Amino acid sequence: MKRRDFLGAAGAGLVLTGCGQEQAAPVTATTRAQQTFEWKMVTTWPKNFPGLGTGASNVARLITEMSGGRIKVTLYGAGELVPPFEVFDTVAGGTAQLGHGAAYYWKGKSKAAQFFAAVPFGMNAQEMNAWLYYGGGMELWTETYAPFGVLPAAAGNSGVQMGGWFNREINSVDDLNGLKMRIPGLGGEVLERAGGLPVSMPGSEIFTSMQTGVIDATEWVGPYNDLAFGLYKVAKHYYYPGWHEPGTTLECLINRDAYDSLPADLQSIVTNACRVVNGDMLAEYTARNNTALRALVEEHNVDVRPFPDEVIAKLRELSEQVVAEVADQDALSARVYKSYLEFRQQVVDWHDISERAYLNLRAG
Ligand code: CA
Repeated sequence: MKRRDFLGAAGAGLVLTGCGQEQAAPVTATTRAQQTFEWKMVTTWPKNFPGLGTGASNVARLITEMSGGRIKVTLYGAGELVPPFEVFDTVAGGTAQLGHGAAYYWKGKSKAAQFFAAVPFGMNAQEMNAWLYYGGGMELWTETYAPFGVLPAAAGNSGVQMGGWFNREINSVDDLNGLKMRIPGLGGEVLERAGGLPVSMPGSEIFTSMQTGVIDATEWVGPYNDLAFGLYKVAKHYYYPGWHEPGTTLECLINRDAYDSLPADLQSIVTNACRVVNGDMLAEYTARNNTALRALVEEHNVDVRPFPDEVIAKLRELSEQVVAEVADQDALSARVYKSYLEFRQQVVDWHDISERAYLNLRAG
């Protein structure tokens, strides 16, 4: 016999399940262990997007599995409960307890947010994780979202992305002039300064926008995602590398009140499910991008080429300006910028003689 008492904690999604609770009992370790929570998760991507959507569903599945069903997470893909760019507000307001997205989508909330997704010419996946977990990054990210009642967790990484798909060749900086390109975050601001017209739109709108000429170019993620989207059908030239997204961190947004209402073991499960997916997604991307790149080149005859040195040099120069100017926006952004930059310099020094030296050596 089961009876459910709704405790009126809608934002916390709290449901107490138990037997024989006709009389009020004090909350003990036993009753806490009987508490179950029904949580909603909203995402900025459709459910089955390779890597991104499946990463979100892995977070939901792992929390449910690891908690033995004490937290049951129901996943809503982009547009199912709310539109993709309303995910942050939905979690902040408590309509959903969890969200999955990328921090650069929320630069309208806080300029500092952008440092926790991707910085042009910034840190790669390995370096981002080092900064977040061991270099003070998580503490700053937590502080950035605190005014909104949202707790962040790193929950996925794409690795180095591709530069994007272009319907014309980019042979000089002048070719960026007037280029309408879907490119989010700081990369978009850099393109704008180079004379381009950056457009922000969710992934689901990219294909049609390219097809109908609303945009001339788009970046999305890398071969794994871009093949699935069929972007080779709407643009000829596929440029590398993703100077604007050198290792984009995906995030899990957690409603603070909902998190605080959990017993400590369930809090640990939520946090660590995100941590598992954070590492797992990078492994998935690293494996799947290889085979997808081969398919793009061999089956679809895609023209894969590097950006010209002149273009990269200009974008690097503009990136330094744009990123430094974010730091001037407010005191928090200044502190995040300082922490990010100091860590990047340290890790560059180390990786110059470790990862980079090895990759160069291996290339022969
Ligand atoms: Ca991207």
